Amino acid sequence: MTGSGAGTAADHPARGAELMANLATVDRRIAEACAAAARPRHEVTLVVVTKFFPGSDVRLLAEAGVRHVGESRHQEAVGKREECRDLDLVWHFIGGLQSNKAAAVGAWADVVQSVDRAKLLPTLGRATQGRTGGGARPLDVLVQVDLEPANDVAAARGAGGRSGVRPADAVALACRAAATDGLRLRGVMAVAPRDGDPRAAFATLAEVATEVRAAVPDATWVSAGMSGDLEEAVAAGATHVRVGTAVLGNRPARG
Ligand SMILES: *Cc1c(COP(=O)(O)O)cnc(C)c1O
Repeated sequence: MTGSGAGTAADHPARGAELMANLATVDRRIAEACAAAARPRHEVTLVVVTKFFPGSDVRLLAEAGVRHVGESRHQEAVGKREECRDLDLVWHFIGGLQSNKAAAVGAWADVVQSVDRAKLLPTLGRATQGRTGGGARPLDVLVQVDLEPANDVAAARGAGGRSGVRPADAVALACRAAATDGLRLRGVMAVAPRDGDPRAAFATLAEVATEVRAAVPDATWVSAGMSGDLEEAVAAGATHVRVGTAVLGNRPARG
């Protein structure tokens, strides 16, 4: 994860071409999904998930026009962000957030998509005050919603899987986030359950998003959809899709 950050497309021609081709494919998929849903293309933002891939790839993506990147592991992300600090990128934290890492993540992330409990809120809000540059700009946050069927929650958690607040508790957490100094609640985020039809899960998320928006009109973002289900997410109203594998290739390890 070190060293190659100064590289440009000229230094990594094959990788640059590969990423450009993959991005074109993903862009086309998003455009077609928007067309099918009669939604304007500009309503959907692509967040390229760069976890497990080096800063040199982030640089190539930026050269190819990517503006939003997603990271799920603090330690890895903080180094890459430093390495890529000259790039004009918006950094999204999308991973499970340990309480003892919240301050550190809030210090570098532009958006924290994975807020799943109230305990994190004051820490995240305070973290923005120590940010370099940008002054006291609030931190954009999303409430992560757990879309596992209720009886699968314990099993999924036991398997080290999902996180998020239950749909019934999302509005309350969203209101607390919106009321926290230093934070700006932008909406909701979710991952579809591993098994089953993502459309049912994304429909639940859309309902939750509507309830949240009724309480906090500013909270218009719906982050849903990954490499395998971005079409279903766009059909259900996603404003942000988080795509890793379809752009960067298979990750070296679990993640
Ligand atoms: C890894 C990850 C993604 C990207 O998944 P792909 O299937 O590789 O596109 C999206 N969202 C979250 C929360 C992730 O952890």
